[in-house]
Amino acid sequence: MDDPIVDLHSDHYFMGEALRQAARAGEAEEVPVGAVVVRDGRVIARAFNQVELLKDATAHAEMLALTQAEEAVGDWRLTDCTLFVTKEPCPMCAGAIVHVRLARVVFGASDPKAGAAGSALNLLQVPSLNHRCQITGGVREAECRALLQTFFAKQRSGENPANGSPGPRTRTLSQSGIRDRPGTEAGLPPDADTG
Ligand code: ZN
Repeated sequence: MDDPIVDLHSDHYFMGEALRQAARAGEAEEVPVGAVVVRDGRVIARAFNQVELLKDATAHAEMLALTQAEEAVGDWRLTDCTLFVTKEPCPMCAGAIVHVRLARVVFGASDPKAGAAGSALNLLQVPSLNHRCQITGGVREAECRALLQTFFAKQRSGENPANGSPGPRTRTLSQSGIRDRPGTEAGLPPDADTG
């Protein structure tokens, strides 16, 4: 009960919740992206990328978090909610974000090649659509990017990113929909040796 109120309402704090989800994805050998949805200062949904686990290219962290949030709110309209996600949303997720009429999107690492919140394109603020979101990028960007860099560096070196994980798993990241070829993720330089 000694959590300072000011932190509970800060972008920094909630991005920390998304980072925690992203770390869980990495532990599960998924591309480490995490997301939470916040309403009235409370987290109402949290999810991490599960493309491999569910064998579903649409199972991005944002999509799963939005579905959870709709259930929590009891409506498909999320007009008073904010999404925190560790990586800039892709076009699919940005489309969903507009459909649920989310008030605001906060992301960590930008994605120059595929980001749809202002980097490669901006689907969140298309004047002709009937909804536009506020966008805040770069929150805890270094931490968000480091997770991705470490993951993909290990992929490239052939090292299992989740040492000691139970049981063999097939790894078909080329089908993840996030990474079709080495280096497509966020324009990341291959210098991610630190955690
Ligand atoms: Zn996505």
